[in-house]
Amino acid sequence: MDYRIGFGYDVHPLEDGLPLVLGGVRIPSPRGSVAHSDGDVLIHALCDALLGALALGDIGKFFPETSDLYKDIDSRILLRESYKTISARGYVLNNADLTVVLQSPKIMPYEEKMRSTIAKDLHCREDMISVKATTTERLGYVGRGEGISAYATVLLKTKE
Ligand code: MG
Repeated sequence: MDYRIGFGYDVHPLEDGLPLVLGGVRIPSPRGSVAHSDGDVLIHALCDALLGALALGDIGKFFPETSDLYKDIDSRILLRESYKTISARGYVLNNADLTVVLQSPKIMPYEEKMRSTIAKDLHCREDMISVKATTTERLGYVGRGEGISAYATVLLKTKE
């Protein structure tokens, strides 16, 4: 069996009155992500980790922001496409560990829903998906509520 590790990172600005979507879940918030897509920073980091594990490039290469095809797109579509890409190369997800960095709102009430949503798109059990959240203790652009970031680590393994 062959294992591949992947890492992903993404940042989006936040603005008043925009929707906040994380891990495929709409989260009530006065501020949301500025983006070409739905701005799901968590799924974008995860896609980058999946593609990066197989050295295939990044989300911008697969789904260019210059394309109208991806305007306001549901990022779960990008996640499913990324999964298809790794699956076609003979790999499945072993597990993923994800961290969202934002000052507010608290997202842990939505953790279970995010995990089950991601697990569905990656054809795995929920206990293979970890979603964590942290603030920056009010430091920097995240602490000022100007932006949101996410980190993703994945381990892929060859299909049995
Ligand atoms: Mg992004």
